[in-house]
Amino acid sequence: MPVARLTTKSKFFIDLAYWEQQGRDFRQELYDALCDECRQMYSLETTLMVDHVDAETGEVKVMDALLDCASAVCRNAPDFVSPRMPLTRAIFRALIAAGNRPQSAEEIYAQIKKGSPAIILKELLSLQMEQDGITPFVA
Ligand SMILES: [Zn+2]
Repeated sequence: MPVARLTTKSKFFIDLAYWEQQGRDFRQELYDALCDECRQMYSLETTLMVDHVDAETGEVKVMDALLDCASAVCRNAPDFVSPRMPLTRAIFRALIAAGNRPQSAEEIYAQIKKGSPAIILKELLSLQMEQDGITPFVA
């Protein structure tokens, strides 16, 4: 990975193909991120695809209802990103909140207000985040 060229403006996303390769269930992760109220509306067993409107770009794309709900509704819950959470978890939640639209360390920092853009970039490149499928976005 060309780490040296990555800056706090470089975008990262959660590579769902990686999760699949590893045999891990991203939907379980999303389900756990939902607030109690929303969790009752969905089931892990049934995958429901819905039209998702990106809050920032207005772009519409088809997305798993769990990700749509987490990024449109549950992200506003007070404990969706909490200062008590480990930084890596807060970063992961910030990407979910963005509907997994690639985010830079600066954008993530603006949302989680924890650490600094430089610290977040370092975390984004850490082995732990790599194991969670966090990958630089190449446009
Ligand atoms: Zn919710």
